[in-house]
Amino acid sequence: MSSDRDELASAVIDACKAMTAAGVNHGTSGNGSARWRDGFLVTPTGMRYEALTPEQMVYVTLDGTAHGPLAPSSEWRMHRDIYGHRPEAMAVLHAHPPHATALSCLREPIPRFHYMVAAAGGPDIRCSRYALYGGAELSAAMLEALDGRRACLLANHGMICFGPSVEKALALAVEVEALARQYCIARQTGTPVLLSEAEMDEALARYASYGKQPGAEE
Ligand code: 13P
Ligand code: ZN
Repeated sequence: MSSDRDELASAVIDACKAMTAAGVNHGTSGNGSARWRDGFLVTPTGMRYEALTPEQMVYVTLDGTAHGPLAPSSEWRMHRDIYGHRPEAMAVLHAHPPHATALSCLREPIPRFHYMVAAAGGPDIRCSRYALYGGAELSAAMLEALDGRRACLLANHGMICFGPSVEKALALAVEVEALARQYCIARQTGTPVLLSEAEMDEALARYASYGKQPGAEE
């Protein structure tokens, strides 16, 4: 019989596999987690998602203690700090998607070139300042870039996002890479015209109720 822990752990592993299948991630890059009990279940470091079992997911409490035989993702601090600072976060996904990472190497945000930028919660998707992978400094830079947002680019590294569920975090990870790709193509083709602040505010207001069916739950 599968436990709540196994179900949640499987959902995270499935999301990581889906990121690979969608071309949003590759190899052992990136990591995923879901909030659980007094902390979160996170992918172990350096393991291919295809071979991962729910039991191998590592339970890390918010004080940073890892419980289990395997070492947690080297980026456990980014996951811990999102759960610690953003109560609405129930799942976190980190990846090295080609286009989002390319933009992160320019250290540029994804600007308000398309209304779907609103999916990340604000008028742009920021790029954090640079810090070495796996450290507290990267996590601090990430938290700043995530202020008022559910996704950001990490300079010369990749992308991180969170959501109210594993499924919604996955949808956002795929969306951010789609936006990065569209923006890169537009830049290669010409000079994209950005939405004005007022146009983007209007899009953000409308997006807040996007996709809601009458009588449907949140
Ligand atoms: P882990 O395998 O330790 O999760 O690291 C992958 C990664 O993307 C580090 O930034
Ligand atoms: Zn990474």
